Amino acid sequence: MKVLKFGGTSVQFHDNMKQVKNIISDMQNEQLLIVLSACRGTTDNLLKLAEASANNHSDLMQSLFNEIKNHHLELITNLKLDNEFNVNVINDVNSILNQIENMCEGIRLLKELTIRTRATLVANGELLSTAILSNYLKSCGINNVLLDAREIMKLYYSNADSLVNFEKTSENIKKAFTQNLYSGFNIQIIQGFIGSDPMNNTAVLSRGGSDYSAAVFGAELQAEEIQIWTDVSGIFSTDPRFFSNAKTIERMTFSEVKELSAFGAKVLHPDTVKPAIVANIPVRVLNTHSPQENGTLLTNNIEESISQIDAITMLKSLNIFSITIPSERERKSEVIRKISECMNQTSGNYFLISQGISEIKIITDNISRLSSTFSKNYLTSNLSDVAVLCLVGKNLTYSSNSKLLNNISNIIFKYNIEMLEIINNNAIYIAMNTLENSNSLYEELHNFIINSI
Ligand code: ASP
Ligand code: MG
Repeated sequence: MKVLKFGGTSVQFHDNMKQVKNIISDMQNEQLLIVLSACRGTTDNLLKLAEASANNHSDLMQSLFNEIKNHHLELITNLKLDNEFNVNVINDVNSILNQIENMCEGIRLLKELTIRTRATLVANGELLSTAILSNYLKSCGINNVLLDAREIMKLYYSNADSLVNFEKTSENIKKAFTQNLYSGFNIQIIQGFIGSDPMNNTAVLSRGGSDYSAAVFGAELQAEEIQIWTDVSGIFSTDPRFFSNAKTIERMTFSEVKELSAFGAKVLHPDTVKPAIVANIPVRVLNTHSPQENGTLLTNNIEESISQIDAITMLKSLNIFSITIPSERERKSEVIRKISECMNQTSGNYFLISQGISEIKIITDNISRLSSTFSKNYLTSNLSDVAVLCLVGKNLTYSSNSKLLNNISNIIFKYNIEMLEIINNNAIYIAMNTLENSNSLYEELHNFIINSI
C-alpha cells in the first residue's frame, strides 16, 4: 500500500483538485491512503477568525468567514459534481460551515479562546477539503471511503506540538484501514494535521503537520512508499530561482536533506517525516502540477558504490568568529563550555564550529553573545560578510572518491576561501568573504554538479 499526502496548494482551486483526482485515478487499483491538508490559506484564515471572534471584531469575523465559505463553495461549483454527490457535498460543507459560525459566535460571547476551542475550530480546514475530495472522487466514479482522523490519530494533549500516542494510533489506523479494505474500499481518505486528545476532544499537530500525519500512518501501515505531493518537482540541485538550470535530484538520503535544510534550502525537513525515517519507509517528493515527473526519492541509505555531489546551497551575511585557544588544558575546556552556553542563550544560529589546536572558529549569524563572552579575556577576531556554500552528496569521503574531491578542489582553490570543511560523508562546507566572488564559485560548483549527475 502507499500513502499519498497532498498539501494545501494541491487542493486550493478546482484545477488543482482535478490534478489530484487524475493522480489517484491512475493508481486506483492500488491500496491507497490519501492524507489531505486544508486548502491553502484556510488554516491561516481559521486562526485569524478565532482571534477576531475572541476580540469581538464583528466586521473582520464576517469577512474572514465569508472568505472561507465562498472559497469552498466556489471550489465545489467549479468541480461540477454529479447531482447526487453535489447535494451530498453541499450538505457536508454547509454543516461544517454552520459549526464554524456557531463556534465563533460562542467564542465572541464568552470572550474566551481556549487551546481546545482553537484546535476544534482550526481542524475544520481539513474536514472541508477531505469532504470535497471524497465526494468529487465518487462523482468521477472513483470509489473511496472518508475516515475521520479524530477517531484515529490519538494525541496526548490538545495543544499544538502535541505528542502522538503511537500505540493507540497504530491500533486505530490498522483496524480502520484493513476493515475498509476488506469491505472493498482500496482508496481511503483522511485528514492530515488533526486528531484527538485522550478525552476525545479535537486536537491538532503543529503547523504544517500533515506531512507528519502521513509519516505516522505510513509507518504504522508499513507502506511501501509515502508520497508527498507538493508544488515543486522534488528536491533540486539548488534553488531554481537562482539558477534556471537546476535539476531534480533522483535519489537522496534523509541526512543529505537535513544538511540542505539547515543551510537555508526550502526543502522538506526530515523531522517532519521522522516516523517514516525510523520505520525505514521511503518518502517520495512529487509535483501535483507535473505528475509525470519522478520527483525525488528519499531513503535512509544509498548503496556505497554511488558517490556523488547532488546539491549546493549558499547562505550569506554570516560571521566567522575566531577565538585563540589558551594553552592551559582547563582554559581550553572552559572555552568550549562557554561556547555551548552562548549557543543555548542566543537566538542566533551556529552553523559550524571548527576546532584546531590553536584556534576555534564559529560560523554564526549572531555574534553578540560570543563577543560579550569572549572579547574581554580572550584573543578574538571576527570576519563579517561571510558566505557559506554547502555541498551535499552521498559517500563523499570514500577513498574511491579522490577523483571527485580532486575535481572539486580544482574549482574551489581558484578562489580565495577562508575555510574548507569536510566533516562527514554528506557535506562539504566552504566559507569565504562575500566580496571574493562567492556568487561565481556558487555558479561554477553548481554547473559541476549538474554536469555530473
Ligand atoms: N493545514 C495545516 C497548516 O496549514 C497543516 C498542513 O497543511 O500541513 O498548517
Ligand atoms: Mg506543508
